[in-house]
Formats: sequence, C-alpha cells, structure tokens
Amino acid sequence: MTTIKLHNSKTRKKEVFTPIDPDNVQMYVCGPTVYDRAHLGNARPVVVFDVLFRLLRHVYGAEHVTYARNFTDVDDKINARAAESGREIGEITAETTQWFLDDMGALGALEPTHMPRATQYIPQMVEMIEDLIARGHAYAAEGHVLFAVDSWREGYGQLSGRSVDDMIAGARVEVAPYKKNPMDFVLWKPSDAEQPGWDSPWGRGRPGWHIECSAMSHDLLGESFDIHGGGNDLMFPHHENEIAQSCCANPEGEFARYWLHNEMLQVEGKKMSKSLGNFFTVRDLLEQGIPGEVVRFVFLQTHYRKPMDWTEKKASEAEATLRKWRALTAGIEPAATAAAAVLDALADDLNTAGAIAEMHKLAAAGDAAGLLAAGQLVGLLSDEMGDWAAAPSVDLSAHEARLFAARQTAMETKDFAEMDRLKSAYTEAGLEVRMSKTGVELVPGTGFDAAKLEGLE
Ligand SMILES: [Zn+2]
Repeated sequence: MTTIKLHNSKTRKKEVFTPIDPDNVQMYVCGPTVYDRAHLGNARPVVVFDVLFRLLRHVYGAEHVTYARNFTDVDDKINARAAESGREIGEITAETTQWFLDDMGALGALEPTHMPRATQYIPQMVEMIEDLIARGHAYAAEGHVLFAVDSWREGYGQLSGRSVDDMIAGARVEVAPYKKNPMDFVLWKPSDAEQPGWDSPWGRGRPGWHIECSAMSHDLLGESFDIHGGGNDLMFPHHENEIAQSCCANPEGEFARYWLHNEMLQVEGKKMSKSLGNFFTVRDLLEQGIPGEVVRFVFLQTHYRKPMDWTEKKASEAEATLRKWRALTAGIEPAATAAAAVLDALADDLNTAGAIAEMHKLAAAGDAAGLLAAGQLVGLLSDEMGDWAAAPSVDLSAHEARLFAARQTAMETKDFAEMDRLKSAYTEAGLEVRMSKTGVELVPGTGFDAAKLEGLE
C-alpha cells in the first residue's frame, strides 16, 4: 500500500499518515459561510482537500473514506445580508449553498460524503455546550455561554503556538464585561426578535461559530478522527477553539489527529481585496470563459502550503497545456494504474506540482493512457470537465505571420504605422503580442474575442 506523508500542523512535522481505521478513513474540512458567491480564495481549500480526498480513495478504496464539510448557515454576516436585501435568510442560504456546489463542481471537486448545515445541528450544539458547562469548561453569563480558557490552559494555544498570556497581550478588541478572561469565546449568544434564534437553557439564542464544527464532526465522525483541514487563516482562533471545545467535551477522544492547512491566494502578486479592484469570484472567471478545469490546473501547480499566485499568464498557459493533453488523450482508455511517480508525488504531502511535472513527462513521451490515468487521479481530463476543449482553439498562425511580415517591412522602411496598427488590433482583441527578431507569438488572454479578428483589414 502507498505510504502517504502529510505535514501535520499540530506537530509542525511531515509525518507518515496512519489512519485509526483503514476501512473508514475520516476527514473533516471547514466549509463556507453561505451569504455570497465563493471568491477565488475560497476555492483553494476546496480543491486542495478534493485532491486529498481522491488520493485517500485511491489508496484505501472509495467506500472506505468519509469526508465531511459543513455549511455555516447561521452567522451575523448572513443576517446582515438579509436585512440589507430584504430577503429571507433561508432563501439566501439555500441559494448560496447551491451556488457553491455548482461553482466547486465546475472546478472538478467531488461532493463530500456529508455536507451538514449548522442549522440542522442546533440540538447537538446545545448538548455539547451543556456538557462543557457540566465539566467546568464553560459558564453562562448575561444570556451568553462562554468557553473558559483558564479551565484548559494546558491545551489552549498549542495548535497555533501561542500562550494565553501572549494572546491577551495581543488582543486589541474591547472586552465584554461578562467575560472572566478576555480570551474566553462565545459558545452561545442571545438573539433579539429580528435575529434567528432557538430555545435553549440560556434563553432564545444562536450558537457561536466555532461550536458547530465540534458538534457536527462529533456527530458524523466521532470523538477521534483522522484529518482536519482548512485554510491557515482559520488556525487561530477557529481551529484552536474547535480543539478546546472537542477535547474538553470528549476528553477520552483525540479529536483530529492530523491537521492540514493550506496557504492563502494572491492575484498577480497582490492580496485579493475589493479595495485593490482585483477581487473576483469563481463564477466571474467561469463567465469570462475561463474553464473550471483551467482554474483547477493553475491551483495544482502550486503546493498547498505555499502562497498561490493567480495570474492571467498562468491561466492562458494552463489552457494551452490542457488543450494539448486533451487532444492527446481523446478517445483513449486510461491506463489501469496511474504511474508510480505521479502517485508518489501526491503521497508526499500532496505535491501536486510534482504530479503535474510527471504528467508533462508522460505527455512528452506520448503516453496518452498513462497521462489520462494520472489526470483522473488529480481530477483533470475527465469527460464531464472537457466540454470547453471540444471547441477548437483559434488558429492564429496566419495572424502571427502577417504581423511578423509587417515587422520586417517596418524595419526596412522605418515606417511603423502598419505594424503598430496590427499590433493594437490584436491587443484590442485580447491577445498578448510577443514580438522578437525571430518571430511573433499571439497568446490569447482571458478577454480574448476571436470575433474581433474577423474582417481585420
Ligand atoms: Zn470549522
């Protein structure tokens, strides 16, 4: 059996992965809060843990892997969205949940085994909170219930490597007067008549965010399970708080044994943000005509523990590669097993960049069946993702020859008007123009519109 090694954030080491039960390997990943379209950064953990899910299914058998990913459908951001839009909360969360599934499906992500919604697990959350109070790890105050970090000083902060005292020193938020320790966090909070709420021993209210993952993973996977994943922006406080809740409510269990965190996403070297004007959703890219498979390919080229830089150049190169690979594998049956080198790369802490490099070698060797088997392992080259590639890419060679000839003439006559006119027409059509002494290359960018080349005089 393939040995999988994973970098465990808990021990800060790459470790051999040994499941509790190889007949039922279990993974939990924090999912989205459903109030808006997923932006490109939200898609990164989905693709990263989809690759891990596929690898685990390959190694242990598809029926021996359980993957749970939640939908946070109770949250103040959702309430705010409902208030500003005048729409019902349930309508917003149902619509956004479906958007998420559609958009992630377009990126080739398999649906997890379980997709629990927070609002369906309120009784389990209430029960866990009652248990934490009974065990002396939580207290009720002014309609709230708080987790008491002082009750678990020995464990709190271990994942993120901070002490409670450091956290207090670093905290700049105004501390609520009902908190015994400034780092105590909310398990339950009161709801007014406008806010969604459920009856509880502490009055009508709603859960804090962190408790849902503890309650749902316990209900679906048990008190000990193999892998917990999420973006590294969730490590503190969310994952730290999940650990505190779960380990204190179920001290016999280990909670999650391997913690995996993916790094964040940038766009053209900058943090994606609305203020920088480089913020876009997965749907925006799909609507621009960038195939989901191309997005997935670009993601896989960067190791999950490195910052991933989304660039238009990478997207157009990925598209060209996938077109070649799809042409090579058209009508071919995949090899019975993926090449050992591809599997070894993935098993080495999800080295997807290494797997892609091996796929380039298979393509160069003309091994179409091997390339297709490897593609299926990483979620590329599948039939259902391939519609986009059926349309032939535009043959730009005549245009390249024409511009090159215009360049030669311009060099001789020193009259650059015709060359410049063509160049701006190609740029206008969404092509990147690369000119040199030896030739011209026209590379379609994301806004490429072939119709603009028709009738170019
Ligand atoms: Zn979570």
